[in-house]
Amino acid sequence: MVTNLLDLDHDALVAFCGQLGEKPFRATQLFRWIHQRGVRDFGQMTDLAKSLREKLKDHAYVVAPPVAREHVSRDGTVKWLFDVGRNNAIETVFIPEDDRGTLCVSSQAGCAVGCRFCSTGHQGFSRHLTVGEIVGQLWWAEHALRKRLGTEERVVTNVVFMGMGEPLNNYPALVPALRIMLDDHAYGLSRRRVTVSTSGVVPMIDRLAADCPVALAISLHAPTDALRDTLVPLNRKFPLADLLGAARRYLDHAPRDFITFEYCMLDGVNDQPEHARQLVRLVRDARWAGLSCKFNLIPFNPFPQSGLKRSPDGAIAAFAQELTDAGIVTTVRKTRGDDIDAACGQLAGEVQDRTRVGERMAKLRGDTARAALSVVAPD
Ligand code: SAH
Ligand code: SF4
Repeated sequence: MVTNLLDLDHDALVAFCGQLGEKPFRATQLFRWIHQRGVRDFGQMTDLAKSLREKLKDHAYVVAPPVAREHVSRDGTVKWLFDVGRNNAIETVFIPEDDRGTLCVSSQAGCAVGCRFCSTGHQGFSRHLTVGEIVGQLWWAEHALRKRLGTEERVVTNVVFMGMGEPLNNYPALVPALRIMLDDHAYGLSRRRVTVSTSGVVPMIDRLAADCPVALAISLHAPTDALRDTLVPLNRKFPLADLLGAARRYLDHAPRDFITFEYCMLDGVNDQPEHARQLVRLVRDARWAGLSCKFNLIPFNPFPQSGLKRSPDGAIAAFAQELTDAGIVTTVRKTRGDDIDAACGQLAGEVQDRTRVGERMAKLRGDTARAALSVVAPD
């Protein structure tokens, strides 16, 4: 059997090397070559014994999904369309900001949850992505962008699971993918800088807390079960009381001391001041006392079949003000990459002064005309 090494977290790679009669430290070396340096040709892994390189050629390969298309926005946002076979494509978006570079990754081709305002949901579910297809998005983006910038330093500083799919419905692939992203011998991202966004798969929120706690975003979108049932069908299975209870429990394990609630602003549907007041009462309910949270309001990104409209700016501002007045930290997501239809990613959050990251992001944003010309492969 031939194994795609992008599918293996460190423990699995140690086991794989064991099967080849190799010691665990070989796995660490391999892991670094693949993830830290973006090398997929075993022949180039010069500190591995020649005999091991030969064995690897027979038993393993390193392949991310092929890029079908790349779009670069005027603001530096990059969107890749990866071909995952059988007419399925997934999207990955990179968003350079002043102090960080955020990669928005997909976890499934399509999605079974079927939220009314989501174009992925309207497409239905095709299949789960493998670990290698999830990690491959980061592998590709990190090394393609480094190559473009001519740097050996980190470009992707944050990962958000806000592309296609419901990550907690693909749990067996999600957890190893997260472990690879967090591993110091791979991407070394901190738990606070990797965010899983979920529409509310309650049992899996508890499992994530136990297995691999990272930052959590919950797609709320409505203050009542009656309204949420119509927007997020999963709410009928896991209603708000169950969801907010799970959010509260998650905080006991989370790397951050708050949960982010995402709220898609839909004109005339969920954007009235009364909805904001209901939300405040909901998150302050004594049943989940101590649930500290922030709100991220997302202007709806329209698509033809939705029959929905984006809330006017004034309604979004008034809604944000209601929450802010109640003492809840609230941000409105900037729409980025609008010209390439790349509305994705949780763009609000912590602000850090990382000057060198800032320099690289500034360069990417100024570099778009040239970058748009070609797809740059990692190696
Ligand atoms: N399935 C997960 C993660 C992917 S969606 C989830 O639902 O959380 C990431 C975020 O984008 C979610 O908050 C989702 O509600 C939001 N979203 C989906 N479609 C959108 C649209 N058309 N406009 C604005 N936000 C949208
Ligand atoms: Fe879209 Fe997320 Fe809903 Fe799936 S769960 S349909 S990806 S918003």
